[in-house]
Amino acid sequence: MDNELRFGTRAVHAGVEPDPTTGAIMTPIYQTSTYVQAAPGDHKGYEYSRTQNPTRTALQNSLAALENGRHGLCFSSGMAAIDTLLKTLKPGDHVVSTNDLYGGTYRLFTKVFATYGITFTFTDMSDPAKVAALITPDTRLIWAETPTNPLLNIIDIAGLAALAREHGCLLGVDNTFATPYLQNPLDLGADLVMHSVTKYLGGHSDVVMGALVVNDDGLAERLAFLQNSAGAVPGPMDCFLVLRGIKTLHVRMQRHCENGAEVAAFLSEHPGVDRVYWPGLESHAGHAVAAAQMRDFGGMVSFTLKGDRMEDALRVLSSTRMFSLAESLGGVESLIGHPASMTHASIPREERIANGLADTLIRLSVGLEDVADLLSDLDQAIGNRS
Ligand SMILES: *Cc1c(COP(=O)(O)O)cnc(C)c1O
Repeated sequence: MDNELRFGTRAVHAGVEPDPTTGAIMTPIYQTSTYVQAAPGDHKGYEYSRTQNPTRTALQNSLAALENGRHGLCFSSGMAAIDTLLKTLKPGDHVVSTNDLYGGTYRLFTKVFATYGITFTFTDMSDPAKVAALITPDTRLIWAETPTNPLLNIIDIAGLAALAREHGCLLGVDNTFATPYLQNPLDLGADLVMHSVTKYLGGHSDVVMGALVVNDDGLAERLAFLQNSAGAVPGPMDCFLVLRGIKTLHVRMQRHCENGAEVAAFLSEHPGVDRVYWPGLESHAGHAVAAAQMRDFGGMVSFTLKGDRMEDALRVLSSTRMFSLAESLGGVESLIGHPASMTHASIPREERIANGLADTLIRLSVGLEDVADLLSDLDQAIGNRS
């Protein structure tokens, strides 16, 4: 599909062709493990579904088109996508990453790949000078995430891309929070984009999946080799669900951003709230960079309560009626979470607080409900405790 077409048109059409045998407008769920050959090696491009499946091919092409990339690869989870990428490295190689990395990625780096002799260093990536200072002749990969979880810190992708080029290493960006609707890292000079498709791309909290998108043909070939060798691929039913989710990505994201803006503004004025973290607020430290590299500011909003009592936060979490208490994000329904006791509970309290993760920090994935209902729900849950 022509990448000159605008985003919404690509979301609806890219990668998807009417089924050649029946004309079905929706890509069929090719629920098959294998494909009949007329003679050994004489086939229609498909041999075995770990290697290739037509439903997955359509999704991979759709994702590549949305990220303005040449090659898309899908995996059975976001973590499987990062796992496959790290298998392009070898013992002795070094990776620089951000110190507020997604917890699962941090675990994969430090508890799995570190045991195979790959080394990792973490820093505050909102300052490119700190990243530059950590690069060694062994550095092969800079791994960034922006906005980050849960403080929505912003990292300058173009700045890191220049650094990566200068030092001959790759830049990979976890674009899960922004989605291709808001931000295209490849256009900003990154070599790889990764998604937890589980979140906004699927968008309906019914699939776990991951993806990588790259431009370089050699890198794509190596990743496809690893994808087939290790085999962490999604099934065709899940690929179908995500293809369906992507058709409304632009409409959903527009509303996530509008509702996010209203929730952030409401919380900023609320007497029970101390700080609000949303990159669209001018008070946010990363606002200028976010305004330059993103098209809007997304539906993830974090905030702290006045005072420092964890019980206050726990009471808010159990008082919301519209926001469900759950891990994950990016679905049509609003979710609420508490990093200190959920996603970041394994980090010692002092370290957590030093990194800005207060006991009263609450993270919202603002969904697509009518925003007035979301605001009144937050208002009754927070109460008036100034
Ligand atoms: C959820 C998430 C992941 C992991 O993806 P899974 O699909 O859960 O394996 C990685 N990065 C970010 C930013 C995420 O939110």
